Amino acid sequence: MKHNELAILGGSPVIDHELVNYSSIDTSDIAVATRVLESGNLSRFIGASGDYFLGGKTILDMESAWSKFFDTKYAVSCNSWTSGLWLAIGSLGLEPGSEVILSSWTMAATATTLLHWNLVPVFADIDSNTFNIDPQDVIQKINSRTRAIVAPDIFGQSADIEKLREICNKYDLYLVSDSAQSPGAKRNGYLAGTKSDIGGFSLNYHKHIHSGEGGVVVTDSSELANRVQLLRNHGEVVVGQKFAQDPFLGIMGMNMRMGEIEAAIAENQLTKLEAAVHSRQTAAVQFASYLSGLPGLSTPAVAPGNTHVYYVYGMKVDTEYLKIDRQMLIEALQAEGVPAILTGYQNIHSLPLFKKQLTYPKNALPYSLLSKRRRQQLANLSLPVSEKLHTRDFFGINWCTKQFNQLDVSLVGEAFQKVWRNIDALRRV
Ligand SMILES: *Cc1c(COP(=O)(O)O)cnc(C)c1O
Repeated sequence: MKHNELAILGGSPVIDHELVNYSSIDTSDIAVATRVLESGNLSRFIGASGDYFLGGKTILDMESAWSKFFDTKYAVSCNSWTSGLWLAIGSLGLEPGSEVILSSWTMAATATTLLHWNLVPVFADIDSNTFNIDPQDVIQKINSRTRAIVAPDIFGQSADIEKLREICNKYDLYLVSDSAQSPGAKRNGYLAGTKSDIGGFSLNYHKHIHSGEGGVVVTDSSELANRVQLLRNHGEVVVGQKFAQDPFLGIMGMNMRMGEIEAAIAENQLTKLEAAVHSRQTAAVQFASYLSGLPGLSTPAVAPGNTHVYYVYGMKVDTEYLKIDRQMLIEALQAEGVPAILTGYQNIHSLPLFKKQLTYPKNALPYSLLSKRRRQQLANLSLPVSEKLHTRDFFGINWCTKQFNQLDVSLVGEAFQKVWRNIDALRRV
């Protein structure tokens, strides 16, 4: 029967229509944005000391709502989380040529923002179950130049912050979180991203909640928060006035300010975060019930103490056991109409920028600050777990791209079951 035959082999697909897209925007966002528009002032920031150096009321309200929700002393808005990372890293005041350890399964911005401060990204491997940075490998990568660890909370759950904190205390390092993909995820009762020295979230269109573009830095340190605020808004002009006490002089600021419309939307979006997270989790639980019992397939592992907010639904497939190519499986699933499949993940350590260390063609800062031997070591760095997962075992679904209501999850689940039922036929292709 055509219906039972795999779509890739000429049968009819389980899903024959475009699934509904995920969106966190509704009429309440239109209302708050309209109010700002009607006020006629879309940004109140002034890049000089005075009342508006920290932005207008919409910005301040939004930031106070975020710091309250995340239970951090400070929340500082900015125009993207890439900017937020640049601000957070800059606030640490690390000496050029210092090394910072991070995992390779993250967005490139987690590493490029280090280079912008002339810091050297040193990639550590990941845990093969959670895909978060592996604290044991972090220890292996520490040397006398190491000054910080940046821990992405990848796919929707927190990295092992307690273990990383222990390491940071022992070696006197800063701990930075990149929680772009995990807003609202919990770990041992606290929210992901809030127990590092500094961390933050993305508000770009692809994330759980968004304001178009935007980012929020969170920290409990008044010193770091002040520096982030200075760096965000041409702080060089106010150093020597309000912030003269800060030993962190020579601020080289930027304009990374968020607009009032985005701030109004971001504050409103925050009120929907719990519901957004809940909808991702409900869909993930339902989906797992379709996948349980499919041989050779592992559903996302949630580390003890964690909740998972499923930015990505990350799976592993045992291709040796199944005697089938990952690519073949994925093509079969795609033919059945399964959307938004990720084949492997970033492995950014293999990008030419980091491998060839060509940040600026002529002087190649920050790499030029390293010994030849260290440069060679970094160029030859390999990460066995990240690489094997990327090239062979891992695939995922971008879980925040589709609404994945009950009916749609059941279709995607049935598509997986159909492919697995027919795996023999697929092996013969
Ligand atoms: C999205 C993302 C970023 C960058 O956030 P933007 O707001 O798009 O600049 C950084 N790190 C991770 C892990 C991300 O997923």
